[in-house]
Amino acid sequence: MEVKLAKTAGFCMGVKRAVDKVLDVARHRGKKQVFTYGPIIHNPQTVELLKKRGVMPVDKLDEIEEGIVVVRAHGISPEEREQLEKKNVEIFDATCPRVARVQSIIMKHALSGYKIIIVGEREHPEVTALMGYSSDQGTVVRNREAVDKLPPYEKVCVVAQTTQNLEEYDEITDTIKKKFPVVEVFDTICRSTEKRQAEIRELAVETDGIIIVGGKNSANTKRLAVISQKQGTPTFHIETADELRSIDLSKHEKIGVSAGASTPNWITDGVVDYLLHYKDGKRLRKLRGLYNLWIFMVRTDIYSAIGAGCLSLVGMLFQGIGISIINVMIAATYVYAMHTINRLQDRNFGRIKGSFREETYVRHKDTYMTLAVLSLIMALVLSFVQGTVPFMLLLLMSLLGILYNITIFPPRWRLKRLVDIPGSKNVFTATAWALATVLIPLF
Ligand code: SF4
Repeated sequence: MEVKLAKTAGFCMGVKRAVDKVLDVARHRGKKQVFTYGPIIHNPQTVELLKKRGVMPVDKLDEIEEGIVVVRAHGISPEEREQLEKKNVEIFDATCPRVARVQSIIMKHALSGYKIIIVGEREHPEVTALMGYSSDQGTVVRNREAVDKLPPYEKVCVVAQTTQNLEEYDEITDTIKKKFPVVEVFDTICRSTEKRQAEIRELAVETDGIIIVGGKNSANTKRLAVISQKQGTPTFHIETADELRSIDLSKHEKIGVSAGASTPNWITDGVVDYLLHYKDGKRLRKLRGLYNLWIFMVRTDIYSAIGAGCLSLVGMLFQGIGISIINVMIAATYVYAMHTINRLQDRNFGRIKGSFREETYVRHKDTYMTLAVLSLIMALVLSFVQGTVPFMLLLLMSLLGILYNITIFPPRWRLKRLVDIPGSKNVFTATAWALATVLIPLF
């Protein structure tokens, strides 16, 4: 099966910006609770992931008393913002700049006496927020029939929900222009939406099946599926790769994949991965095994340990001293132990929070700690075999390495930790590496 992934699949600028902002806020939140009013984006898997980072979506502002509130990419109405400002909360605004532009067009024209017509879905959070900017002069239309039912306004300003279909918007605005004497139409459809929709149209013609990945509650994702269906191509809207198990794809030879603006890449990659292995060839299975092994080694710091061993080997070669496999083992086991112990010393996993290492470190904490301690003991025993000086040196480095991430002084009279002093972290790491890779083989 040939699989073609749309170039435009995945997070748009506004969503990426909002997710980055909320992750950044969550990382530095301290003890404060982080809220998003409504889901930050319309993707249940991303919202679940954010919940694990301590970011709670709430449906009503009454549910927030204090803490930090991140305003979602779709924005909020001025009334809602006012309500938030009266509470004991810090507000971080992640409204997409393109949505903010529509808000300002509406506000300006409502104040100049225009009736505002918003082409979009009445219940969508972006549209409800936009309505808030219209000073009660706004109305929402979904299609041409809804335009026919509007009373005769003198002058109207027309904007679209940013994820509307361009062709439909053109048809609706044509009807509006015929009905009202003064009409100002603004093209507020986001270009990323437009490009995504144009690409799915082409992809649906080129392929014999289309998979659209993204939240079932995401308007722009649903619209992609509708556009593809309109081309007559069998289309499946799924949220994750798991849903593909119940779909018979055996008759399809070329499948196109696209994803909504709020679909994270890791979900789309999972779908592409599933499709590529649908008619699993042995070669692909072998490659997949190698890839998984590599990921496992990076995730568990075995990769760093191998790197340290290689560096020690290079150190011995450059210094023209005999190659000792024991030295290679010392460097590898020491680096593995220090990396792992330091990650596990941080009780909140602050430094790996959000990274691809977090899950495995949290789940296998005890096993990793046991392996790290055994590695350190092995490194010390091997250095002892090499002589008293290497042993003492490694013992000192191990103590320094363990202290690296430990708070020694009580917070009241604590000076800055060594690693908190700008630049010291790199110097500290570089020194430890130099000692491990150059001095030990020398002795
Ligand atoms: Fe912003 Fe466009 Fe993404 Fe909507 S689709 S959040 S307007 S970049």
